[in-house]
Amino acid sequence: MIDTAHPPLRPRVTAFLADDPGRLLVGGRWRAASSGADFATVDPATGRPLARIARAAAPDVDAAVAAAATALPRWAKTAPAERSRLLWRIADLMEEHLDDLAELETLDQGKSLRTSRFGEVPAAISQFRYYAGWPTKILGETIPTSLSRTPPGKEVLAYTRREPVGVVAAIVPWNSPLIMTAMKLAPALAAGCTIVLKPAENTSLTALYLGRLLQEAGLPDGVVNIVTGFGGEAGEAIAAHPGVAKVAFTGSTAVGKRLAQTASTRLARLTLELGGKSPSIILPDADLTAAIAGVSRGIFDNGGQVCVASARIYAHRDVYDDVVAGMATAGESLALGHGLAAGTDLGPLVSAAQAERVAGYVDEGAADGVEVVTGGRREGDAGTFYRPTVLTGARPGMRLLREEIFGPVAVVTPFDDLDEVVVWANDSDYGLAASVWTEGLSAAHRVAARLQAGTVWVNCHSFLGPELPKGGHKESGWGYENGPQGLENYLETKSVVMVL
Ligand code: NAD
Repeated sequence: MIDTAHPPLRPRVTAFLADDPGRLLVGGRWRAASSGADFATVDPATGRPLARIARAAAPDVDAAVAAAATALPRWAKTAPAERSRLLWRIADLMEEHLDDLAELETLDQGKSLRTSRFGEVPAAISQFRYYAGWPTKILGETIPTSLSRTPPGKEVLAYTRREPVGVVAAIVPWNSPLIMTAMKLAPALAAGCTIVLKPAENTSLTALYLGRLLQEAGLPDGVVNIVTGFGGEAGEAIAAHPGVAKVAFTGSTAVGKRLAQTASTRLARLTLELGGKSPSIILPDADLTAAIAGVSRGIFDNGGQVCVASARIYAHRDVYDDVVAGMATAGESLALGHGLAAGTDLGPLVSAAQAERVAGYVDEGAADGVEVVTGGRREGDAGTFYRPTVLTGARPGMRLLREEIFGPVAVVTPFDDLDEVVVWANDSDYGLAASVWTEGLSAAHRVAARLQAGTVWVNCHSFLGPELPKGGHKESGWGYENGPQGLENYLETKSVVMVL
């Protein structure tokens, strides 16, 4: 039995939900989809509807792209210090509404309030603060030339300008909606781009709440437009729109590949932050308490619906039994419940379909001889809760080890030899993140250098921040978000060459 009761909602959240929150934001106006169609977004813990969300289609996307294009020239020319001020103001407003945003995120997505309140919403705010510092530091260069065509007696002045790429389509997933939104909006706004944002269909609410804060902050109409709806409909229309110069996508590798094809037909700029199957390697000299706690959090937090989740644990045989037992204890100690209830460690997965998908992987593994040390089952009436699960005995090539499950499912495997385990860790189509647990300085650096991943953590997992470039090697993505690299995604370079 799972208790899905929760305390009353905060007044501002209640008021937001009562105020027809699911409309589209186009050119500064909140409006229904042009077809009038909408759909329900539900609380995944209970299945109860929270709000109706506008179901946008191609005509709405046309209107949103047109609004972004109209707003672009003025926003691109807005003084850098003013863009900084607005980004900082957005962060201030988000901070004032931190508890409301956290509650809404938990209600819509399911994750524990602790994760929303102390992890993700603050992380989203820090994106705006970090990129608020950038508009005044977007610099071109003056370049000394050696051009043979320089007319006698003349000089050449050559310099570069950094210009916003144009209208950006920001398409985000459901697992960490607000932080994923902020990771695109903040650098794109800093660069002077205008945006059409598409939240994931089952978690639109915090984006829509943020839309109201953007207006309150004084962001000009049309600079950020929000188009809710389904991937195959609104998402496809945005990604294929000729008025969109750049698609910034976070989501599954399957959809990322599709977008790469769409974008290639008109050579639209594209960054892809995709899936992962991140390995964690625990060496025999590791601080075992820290390692077990770290990798357990790495796979169980947010129900494993984390792109960088520590899904494959490789533990040296000397410590393997302790790691398996420790992770099982960690999983069993987590209290499942409504994300908003005090004492809940783990909320539901985002939907019954997602829980079904997770169960499918585990059941298939169990039928194929994998041992379920703990968990391995769904719970609760809504069918969205899944017990933290530890599996052993998986064999190379099994889907459990190769595919992204996106649930609280750790697969633990023993190893004897460091060279061997690095090969196993790299034997994946994905290359998003990895962690190494050791007190040995040499091993830490050497293994970090050999792992094929966009981020390698040593003695920690899932440590992320706006200043740390994050991206995927191999099929985990194209390009990087965060840091100066994140800003580059939204800038073009122009060389200006003058004969004087
Ligand atoms: P998804 O690919 O199904 O959807 C992501 C977004 O794309 C949603 O807004 C969806 O509506 C939209 N979409 C779906 N089909 C589309 C299409 N044909 N054209 C345009 N848009 C389309 O992914 P998801 O299930 O929402 O999210 C989970 C995935 O996201 C996992 O694979 C996870 O690893 C990945 N993810 C990656 C990162 C990262 O930084 N690398 C971060 C978070 C999540």
